[in-house]
Amino acid sequence: LMGQMMHKPLLISSIIQHADRYFGKNEIVSRRVEGDIHRYNYTECHRRAKKLANAFAGFGIQIGDRIATLAWNGYRHLEAYYAVSGSGAVLHTINPRLHPEQISYIVNHAEDQYLLFDITFLPIIQAIATHCPTVKAFIMMCGRDHFPADSGIPNLLCYEDLIEGNSDQFIWPEFDENSASSLCYTSGTTGHPKGALYSHRSTILHSYASAMPDGLNVSARDSVLPVVPMFHVNAWGLPYSAPLTGAKLVFPGPHLDGKSLYELFEQEQVTFSAGVPTVWLGLLTYVGQNNLKFSSFRRTVIGGSACPPAMMRTFRHTYNVEVVHAWGMTEMSPLGTACTLLSRHNALSEEDREKILTKQGHVLYGVDMKIVDDSGKELPWDGTTYGNLLVKGPWIISSYFKGEGGDVLEDGWFPTGDVATIDADGYMQITDRSKDVIKSGGEWIGTIDLENVAVSHPAVLQAACIGIYHPKWDERPLLLIVKKQGAEVTKEELLHFFEGKVAKWWLPDDVVFIDALPLGATGKILKNKLREQFKEHKLP
Ligand code: ADP
Repeated sequence: LMGQMMHKPLLISSIIQHADRYFGKNEIVSRRVEGDIHRYNYTECHRRAKKLANAFAGFGIQIGDRIATLAWNGYRHLEAYYAVSGSGAVLHTINPRLHPEQISYIVNHAEDQYLLFDITFLPIIQAIATHCPTVKAFIMMCGRDHFPADSGIPNLLCYEDLIEGNSDQFIWPEFDENSASSLCYTSGTTGHPKGALYSHRSTILHSYASAMPDGLNVSARDSVLPVVPMFHVNAWGLPYSAPLTGAKLVFPGPHLDGKSLYELFEQEQVTFSAGVPTVWLGLLTYVGQNNLKFSSFRRTVIGGSACPPAMMRTFRHTYNVEVVHAWGMTEMSPLGTACTLLSRHNALSEEDREKILTKQGHVLYGVDMKIVDDSGKELPWDGTTYGNLLVKGPWIISSYFKGEGGDVLEDGWFPTGDVATIDADGYMQITDRSKDVIKSGGEWIGTIDLENVAVSHPAVLQAACIGIYHPKWDERPLLLIVKKQGAEVTKEELLHFFEGKVAKWWLPDDVVFIDALPLGATGKILKNKLREQFKEHKLP
């Protein structure tokens, strides 16, 4: 017997239609690349997205064609999100921090037909244009006033011309909800980048689940500022979950320094934000140095790499901002888990609650996870046994775009490449990425724990721990430290600070102070670079 409910495909266009119809006056505020603040609302955004969709229809764009963006977080980028996917084409968001050669590699691999870009990225386009034969035109996201007279790019179009020149009457097409909607390449720290190809259905389900209270907890009363870029796994879905819930959106554009962010947080009464740990360092340093407070900021989701407990404490105790630690990856749309407490945790001491909140947390409904040993045998959920973390669910990839990397699933599960524990309540904690784990005398040392201890020292700004070749133990930990400005600490003091906080045999063999850590295109510490740089380092 079949249910007798309507069949309505889950399509991305329905989100912007919903936001227009029910939250039309709710604002979208952007600090533009041009420097000023732009302000409009969901109704106006929808109107312009339809104009852009008409422009694409005029170009002859078909369902499944790829259209790329190289852009910061801003209203035009949001319009492109809806115009491209809503038309049935595939939005390919490119990370501008990648090397130009990598950018042209993925443009060619994706066979992008059009590429929209912010004015900041004109030099990148000038460098790659002749190497991207599939691109019929490059669309510069600006008005005539910022459009270059002679860019040297023959097929360059002006975004605002397309908006002005097209009608706002457009009926979003209906098609199979399993159709591809957007494409993100992994940053490819090993080998070529590979594409994760999301569908309309996977995106809508991910948006629903991630907006829930124990996920991102976004509502129509929030003012949401995604610091995480729209070119990094779709800003963790916020360009979808914010309009889905009616939340106000605030886009920081290219200005992610502490001062610019703080101004926007205050001016737009931001309540919720999300980003990787490294970006929060700048904001916290600025706010701390200037003795400032947040008047509206209540909650932030931190993920992408492990959030040090010291950072959580500063947010919570000094600024009264709740930190939700979340975990996921490009291949997972990206959200897999988020860490929030259960009511019975109220009975625990502050310290024990903090221990739980340091974990990466519970799965969102829809995702299932397990840990296994190297032979694939499932391991117990006791909070101490660690193993390879596998996941499955309707917003997790089944294979990479164009079949790159072959069959990636193991028995229907996606191997994340992370090593984790899971406790009896289902709270997962990442101990390491499998390629970063230090193997000492056949046992594993988790680098995240060591880094968390290091950054809780008052003189330490950032820390990274890597394995260094050791003749007896195979590998031993080397700790690389960036000190806070003006702070002093010696190697001996730091090592002493570790005593009693980690097992004795986990103690780093050496500490090296450096000026800065190498960051990748998504703001994460590049440990492979560090391993290369320090491979000749002699441990004492
Ligand atoms: P890339 O793999 O190219 O860096 P992703 O942004 O998809 O791109 O990174 C996913 C990886 O980031 C995860 O597999 C995990 O190793 C790491 N990660 C994400 N969130 C967390 C977190 N909260 N704690 C620890 N590691 C995390």
